[in-house]
Amino acid sequence: MADKLAIHWFRQDLRLSDNPALVHAAKIGRILPIYILDDETAGKHRMGQASRCWLHHSLRSLNESLGGKLSIYQGNPQTILNDILKRLDVDAIFWNRCYEPWRIDRDALIKETIARKNIAVESFNGSLLWEPWAIKKNDGTHYKVFTPFYRKGCLQASEPRQPLSAPLGVHYQYDSQKSLNIDQLGLLPTIRWDKQLEAHWNIGEDGAHGRLQKFIGSGLVNYKEGRNFPAKPFVSRLSPHIHFGEISPNQLWYLIRTLADNKDVDHFCSELGWREFSYGQLYNNPELPFKNLQQKFDNFPWTENQEYLRAWQEGQTGVPMVDAGMRELWQTGYMHNRLRMIVGSFLVKNLCLHWHHGERWFWDTLLDADLAINSTGWQWIAGCGADAAPFFRIFNPVTQGLKFDPDGDYIRRYIPELTKLPNKYLFCPWEAPESILQEAGVSLGRTYPQPIVDIKQSREAALEAFRSLGQRLP
Ligand SMILES: Cc1cc2nc3c(=O)[nH]c(=O)nc-3n(C[C@H](O)[C@H](O)[C@H](O)COP(=O)(O)OP(=O)(O)OC[C@H]3O[C@@H](n4cnc5c(N)ncnc54)[C@H](O)[C@@H]3O)c2cc1C
Repeated sequence: MADKLAIHWFRQDLRLSDNPALVHAAKIGRILPIYILDDETAGKHRMGQASRCWLHHSLRSLNESLGGKLSIYQGNPQTILNDILKRLDVDAIFWNRCYEPWRIDRDALIKETIARKNIAVESFNGSLLWEPWAIKKNDGTHYKVFTPFYRKGCLQASEPRQPLSAPLGVHYQYDSQKSLNIDQLGLLPTIRWDKQLEAHWNIGEDGAHGRLQKFIGSGLVNYKEGRNFPAKPFVSRLSPHIHFGEISPNQLWYLIRTLADNKDVDHFCSELGWREFSYGQLYNNPELPFKNLQQKFDNFPWTENQEYLRAWQEGQTGVPMVDAGMRELWQTGYMHNRLRMIVGSFLVKNLCLHWHHGERWFWDTLLDADLAINSTGWQWIAGCGADAAPFFRIFNPVTQGLKFDPDGDYIRRYIPELTKLPNKYLFCPWEAPESILQEAGVSLGRTYPQPIVDIKQSREAALEAFRSLGQRLP
């Protein structure tokens, strides 16, 4: 058996534990573990800058766990696999499935080609609790609304697969002839802004489990309510680790549920359910990243305004809650979910810019940028998704701040120039009397921007634009 060689193709499963395809490969014999950076077939879904940085560090960590035996390639996977198969005596190829439409098409072709060569090829589920086709309504159609999807679909379906241990005693082989080293992939930026990420993240499988333990120790206990408060430690910040597969949803699902049986655990599991829902949305609507699910939005009178867009991207809109969220993203590669909703609503509704602008910016700057979740999130915010926030529900960044950052800790963390403003005006400095601004060292338009739009007027304009689609407001 040890004479046989199986390829394990790592993709969004950069871990050794709970890796079904890797476990399968280990049963065959020696393993050639490979990673292929595929910008070619990815096309416009080529990974963004922040994701590329994460990937660099994650591959390093995985390579260490594999004793330096990870073989790395760049290009079209079909061509690269053909070349490996010509040079090495490979008996089988295994991978864990990805669900982006472009990857589904690519992998189906690759599978066919390999099978024709009489080499065993098999794919597994390594990143979802339930694959999109497993959850259907009784009439065979897919769910469009989250709550029935999760409660009637997922929770009534068969239990997710139990996590697997990492295979032991595996002989890993390295392709010394053709493998690149990780640096040759050129994933890091020339100006090394990624260095600032080191303070916030411990990238890799061990880092993911460390993060989970931290969350269990200090966040899970009040998750249901606490998850709304961005200055508090009640969310897991596991999203990039989950996206790159450094930890699996199955590991989270089972571990968290053994700890307690309460509202916080249920709520955390239901957020994993939202991830599953997003994957179902993309699988059943391959055009989700581009096309409004509700067609009536195709005629929405969006504006084009580069200055607004730049101010939003740079956290310089003059609306503190929005700017704090955008600066958190820029500085850490992450943004708290409450802020993703606030900044998203502001872009689409108060600035009246198309949700594609937000989706693209998040795609480039989020460490957890994920085609399924990001597209679902933006369609939700814009009101054009399947199960979306109605368009007329417009987040008010001032009241959101007062409610979810009552002590102003989050704003002060990311907007130091407003630190000395009293809480009463921290969320709306334009309302502060001149004497208070002066005392706090704030000069609007100089040390911090004047708001680029009037929140009330822009809200009214958004509702008017919505009415122009022939929609009645409740
Ligand atoms: C406009 C918009 C864009 C988004 N883009 C992304 C994205 O590209 N990648 C991404 O992972 N999440 C995205 N989200 C969802 C959500 O904001 C993040 O998953 C969450 O903030 C990650 O932080 P956490 O790990 O601390 O979450 P926790 O609250 O600790 O949740 C645990 C896990 O559950 C999943 N999850 C939580 N909330 C959601 C949600 N609303 N939808 C789907 N899955 C969820 C994530 O995998 C998350 O890591 C987006 C949300 C919005 C509103």
